[in-house]
Amino acid sequence: MDKSQAKQKIASLTKQIKHHADLYYTKDKPVISDQEYDQFFRQLQKLEKEFPELSAEDSPSQRVGGKPLKLFKTITHKTPLLSLDNAMNFEELEAFDERVRKGLGLGEERVEYVAELKMDGLAISLLYKHGKFVQGATRGDGKNGEEITQNLKTIRSIPLTLAEPVDLEARGEAYLPLKDFAALNEERETAGEPRFANPRNAAAGSLRQLDPKITASRPLDIFIYFGLGPDMKKHSDVLDYLAQLGFKTNPNTEICSGLSEVKNFVEKWEEKRDKLPYEIDGIVVKVNSFPDQKKLGFTARAPRWAIAYKFAPRQAETIIEKIDLQVGRTGAITPVAKLSPVKVGGVTVKRATLHNEDEVKRKEIKIGDYVKIQRAGDVIPEVVSVIKAKRTGDEKEFQMPKHCPVCNSELYRPEGEAITRCINAACPAQVKERIRHFCTREAMDIEHVGPAVVDQLVEHKLVKDVADLYGLTTKELESLARFAEKSARNVIDSIQNSKDRPSDRLLYALGIRMVGRIVASLIAQHYDSLEDLFDIKAGELEKIHGIGDKVASSVERFFAQKENHKLIERLKKDGVRITDQKAKGPQPLKNKTFVFTGGLAMMARPEAEELVRSLGGHPSSSVSKQTDYLVAGTEPGTKYEKAKKLGVKIISEKEFDSLIKKA
Ligand SMILES: [Zn+2]
Repeated sequence: MDKSQAKQKIASLTKQIKHHADLYYTKDKPVISDQEYDQFFRQLQKLEKEFPELSAEDSPSQRVGGKPLKLFKTITHKTPLLSLDNAMNFEELEAFDERVRKGLGLGEERVEYVAELKMDGLAISLLYKHGKFVQGATRGDGKNGEEITQNLKTIRSIPLTLAEPVDLEARGEAYLPLKDFAALNEERETAGEPRFANPRNAAAGSLRQLDPKITASRPLDIFIYFGLGPDMKKHSDVLDYLAQLGFKTNPNTEICSGLSEVKNFVEKWEEKRDKLPYEIDGIVVKVNSFPDQKKLGFTARAPRWAIAYKFAPRQAETIIEKIDLQVGRTGAITPVAKLSPVKVGGVTVKRATLHNEDEVKRKEIKIGDYVKIQRAGDVIPEVVSVIKAKRTGDEKEFQMPKHCPVCNSELYRPEGEAITRCINAACPAQVKERIRHFCTREAMDIEHVGPAVVDQLVEHKLVKDVADLYGLTTKELESLARFAEKSARNVIDSIQNSKDRPSDRLLYALGIRMVGRIVASLIAQHYDSLEDLFDIKAGELEKIHGIGDKVASSVERFFAQKENHKLIERLKKDGVRITDQKAKGPQPLKNKTFVFTGGLAMMARPEAEELVRSLGGHPSSSVSKQTDYLVAGTEPGTKYEKAKKLGVKIISEKEFDSLIKKA
């Protein structure tokens, strides 16, 4: 490919990627699969590597992160990012409304407010010049923040170019979705790194990385809530304007007429906050009208026209009755506190994870202790602290046992690691957990095979490993308690339907230590088939950005075991997909049928037909009703007349050429 072809190709790939990124990250309505998106992306990266002079500042490839920094630069915000006053209850909210009405000289009239969800994330400022993203920074202390432009570029919902060439400062809240927060903590724990205490810390820790590639590997997102356009009279206009420019604004924002509607909004979301995919800790209420905001002004530290209503923390006090031990799929022994049942934010909690032996020691947790527990979304509740003042002296120290509570083999805690393990691979607890993990939604997504079914399958020796699932018959299932013909059929169908998952899902499903969804997808991007990993060396994997030495040696160890090759070969024999199709280019002509007639000036006929094929179309030699385009060169033959009669679209060679380039 020469430079001018590369330039065209880069332009067309950039356009495609931006379009699909917008649908996916900003509008949440993807039309192509993640794999197809990745393929566009990798093609672009390859071309930009070949022709570095053609890579643009706002190229989507900037999203993967630039060079690591030595330290962050401090920048001063043009206008400070103020904090808001808090309201802890409805009385304080009422007092705020009264102050606002008084300040505006109103009687009983209702003030128009905008109510927004308050994200548990990190406040961010984004500067645009002529519509281009030029600088991003943390809030810092409000006046000074840290410049983290490179890291922010990795957040795909932050537009690098706006729909209009305006100068603008946008403000928003960067956050890590709860499921990614849980996955990240799980990965950190298996890698022996400390867990993040909450999603906000995880977002901050991810954005304040000197190596942007680490940030790029964390699925951060952002909601923008401020950015002044020309002639704006209301905050709600700003939000509309921001969305028009291409920013992601939170769809759960409402204009409220008066305090009673604000209260309804608060009550609604306090109840529904568990249903959200991200953590919120309250509601932000702002006076909608800008002239009114101006009239109200500021106190020394906060605007008078806004307030943050804080939800009650989802914490509660209870007693640790007992500490159970759970055996995970990698043999990790997790101490779990059995609690006196207690309501926390509307949900009854009976258990809380204690993570590992060191955590129990660090928090000085004893059996019988009164503790404060906390939960966020669907993440398993945690013990925050012990209430030592309530100790009676009857509390008991927790001892990590020497033997597996399930298979009784000796437990082992590697030097420098926090986690104690059962290293008996045949340990029934581990077998069950491996199969459960394999079937989960994020892994092979096998419906109808939940924990209870897995228990039955393993206990009746129908399944010893994940490959056995694919050999199950309805007859075998029907022999089990609680199974009828239909439920057995459902299970078998779900298992069969899972055979075609992309290979990164399978890689994750295998439950290799330290291989979470993010790592699995990084590895799968570099290898077409799981068989390519059979002789993999850690050193080779470490070359992949985002994969550290511990993860790499864990993968090497897994694939060094011949039993694991056999397992994968058995899966393959059963028809489970272990290879992804080779990276294909974009397919702008997908399913379009082309017929050529007459002489072509720019290329030979076979070449043109090959081009159609490579872009996903079908070349054909005869015209029919199914033909989408007839490309007519010089002196077209009878096909031309036939196409005309059938109403097939006839285009010139030049139009064909621009059709390809446009794509
Ligand atoms: Zn065991």
